[in-house]
Order: sequence, then structure tokens, then C-alpha cells
Amino acid sequence: MSDETVRPAPDPAPPAEPGPPAHGAVERAPADAPLGQTLLRGWRGRCPRCGEGGLFRAYLKVREECPVCAQSFRGLRADDGPAYVTILIAGHLAVPLIYFGAEWDSPLLAVLSVSAVVLAGSLVLLPRVKGAFLGVLWRSA
Ligand SMILES: [Zn+2]
Repeated sequence: MSDETVRPAPDPAPPAEPGPPAHGAVERAPADAPLGQTLLRGWRGRCPRCGEGGLFRAYLKVREECPVCAQSFRGLRADDGPAYVTILIAGHLAVPLIYFGAEWDSPLLAVLSVSAVVLAGSLVLLPRVKGAFLGVLWRSA
């Protein structure tokens, strides 16, 4: 006789549920997500999927995932695209000031005014343009 006790066979592992995508992967957007809607949600700094959760955790730092719908943002990289578009827009905002500033009495005041408009415009526009870029990238992922 042996002292071995017969153990019941362990339960089979439950089927694996589809979890979050592997690091670097982006969940696919719904095929019917309208481009204008995802672009506008990104412009507002909101999740392009649900429009509720914040897209950024700091000025330009993108969250790992949406705090509301858990949409992963890990693979979304806008790189330098938002900076180029921001410079394009802010530069065009400065053109009227440069044009009219040429007639100002003080060139220093003209240069400072144009610089202030370009700097403030860039700081305001950059996160919005980056959000819009991320919205479009999420849709086309
Ligand atoms: Zn969301």
C-alpha cells in the first residue's frame, strides 16, 4: 500500500480572453469612425474612440490608454508632423503683423510683437494639432 493520495486533475485553464494588445500595438479603430469626428476629438485633447477620456497626461505626453474606454495609445507616434503644421499655421498668423509692422516706427516693437504672436500661437496650437494628428493616426491604424 502506498500513502500517495490521488489528486484530482487540475481544471483546464480557462480560454484566454483577448486582453490589451502587445506593447507597441494599436487596437484597430471602428471601421465606421468618421474622419472629422476623430480629428475633432483629437483637437480637443480627447480620446478619438470615445471622446470622453483625456488623450494627454501632460502638455504633450500621450497617455498609455484612455482612462474611460481603455483604448490603447501605445503605438501612436505623431513624430514631427504636429510641429510642422503648427509652424505653418503660426507663421501665417504672423504674416499680417509683419506686413503692417513694417510701417511701425519702432522695428524692435514690430519684431517683439511678431515673436510674441508666433510663440503664443505655437504653444496654444501644438497640443491641439498633435491631438488631431493622433486622432487621424488612430483611425488609420
Ligand atoms: Zn476613450
